[in-house]
Amino acid sequence: MIDQNRTIQIAGSGLVGSLLALRLLQRGFNVKVYESRPDMRKSSISAGRSINLALSHRGIQALKSAGLEKEILENAIKMEGRLIHDLEGNLTFQAYSSRPGEFINSISRRTLNVILMDAIEKIKPNAIQFNTQLKKINSQSGIAVLENELKQSEEFTFDLLIGTDGAASACRQYFMEQSARLHFNYSQVFQNYGYKELTIPPGPNNKFLLEKNALHIWPRGHFMMIALPNPDATFTATLFLPYHGSESFEVLKNEDQLVTFFNTHFKDAISLIPHLTQEFFQNPTGHLYTVKCSPWHDADKVLLMGDAAHAIIPFYGQGMNCGFEDVFIFDQLLDQNPDWNSICKSFSEIRKPNSDAIADLAEDNFIEMRDKVADPVFQRKRKLEMQLEKQFPEYYSKYAMVTFRPDISYYDAMIKGRKQDELLMNICASEKSEWTESELKEIYNKLVNLSL
Ligand SMILES: Cc1cc2nc3c(=O)[nH]c(=O)nc-3n(C[C@H](O)[C@H](O)[C@H](O)COP(=O)(O)OP(=O)(O)OC[C@H]3O[C@@H](n4cnc5c(N)ncnc54)[C@H](O)[C@@H]3O)c2cc1C
Repeated sequence: MIDQNRTIQIAGSGLVGSLLALRLLQRGFNVKVYESRPDMRKSSISAGRSINLALSHRGIQALKSAGLEKEILENAIKMEGRLIHDLEGNLTFQAYSSRPGEFINSISRRTLNVILMDAIEKIKPNAIQFNTQLKKINSQSGIAVLENELKQSEEFTFDLLIGTDGAASACRQYFMEQSARLHFNYSQVFQNYGYKELTIPPGPNNKFLLEKNALHIWPRGHFMMIALPNPDATFTATLFLPYHGSESFEVLKNEDQLVTFFNTHFKDAISLIPHLTQEFFQNPTGHLYTVKCSPWHDADKVLLMGDAAHAIIPFYGQGMNCGFEDVFIFDQLLDQNPDWNSICKSFSEIRKPNSDAIADLAEDNFIEMRDKVADPVFQRKRKLEMQLEKQFPEYYSKYAMVTFRPDISYYDAMIKGRKQDELLMNICASEKSEWTESELKEIYNKLVNLSL
């Protein structure tokens, strides 16, 4: 049995830290959370980058274990597929799955975080100490340094400190400082892309101006825009654009250039974004990067989780889902291991190949979303996959395995999915776009017999 009397300190009360704190409190642990920002329920601060997120089955599974999936899904909007906008404004719908119940959900980051924080404080009022930033850790002495909003320092002694303090983690900095002792590996790879969030407001009578139940994509080769629906009938659009080059942030310097760019590439969207110029030039440009590191634990004293351990680019809609799955797996390990040392070690070892896999898949999917979704071979392949899923419900595409099958690890989904994709892309290289039942059976048999 693990020692129940340990106090678990958590740095960061974002999505992952909040769900983790909640699960640990539900299990009866003594938990304290330090969050650098003010309480978002009492102030008008933004909840952070990306206003809304796609929540799918891995994340839902973890929320279910905390008893919150129903409340959260009631606040979400289902997105049943991608709606592709071509240059002329023609629309093509690509469903995410042929099976019922397999869709993704647009949820507000703030709503999600607030529901989690409220649930924490129902069990332990004041469990979260806001305006308190973790500055430094010394694991040998088990002491960490915090700083409050008045820039005053405070020290606390910890038994186990879990860093869920996001992609720019201060906790991870400690691992960097201890890299020789811990054999800590670290890489951070920037994309040559930034992103800008823009708003599509509701139309007359609070109506959605675009199809509500879809994730909208304007694929334009080396750049793209997407839009996700919000419950107030707005859409949050995100433009992903290179920093440099002929179509990039560096050449969009004034309103004329911006409007010409949108009129050329997003003709059907420009009239839907009334504050385009103001938002484009005033909203911050977000950066996209992948962080891989290991190990994530220093014995049973310090552990990384969520984006602090594995920040990925957002093109599979899995960063938060993966972080929520971290919590789900950690929760299971608490029942399966005799002591904290083996829990932390197993967690780090089990999750690392999986977070690496989803990081790589997200990079592949960026190319797929901005470019391949508009490609005829890819479109035929998607059509073939839908027919296969309909005729053989036990067939799962790579996307469906990653998104709808938490029982298949990210790593296995990547290995199997890539082989399936290769076979299907070869089949779809020919112009053929209709398949008879017996042809589908033959293709299905080839998929089943792929050596893995
Ligand atoms: C544009 C974009 C779109 C995305 N879309 C999706 C999507 O559709 N689906 C999906 O699953 N994922 C998506 N993601 C990824 C998702 O946002 C992250 O994976 C998720 O927020 C990670 O949660 P986290 O709790 O680990 O980190 P964060 O959400 O970053 O939370 C970290 C928390 O720690 C606090 N903090 C930071 N430093 C300190 C410190 N030193 N001391 C104390 N507190 C600290 C922060 O204030 C914050 O509250 C997207 C990301 C981006 C950028």
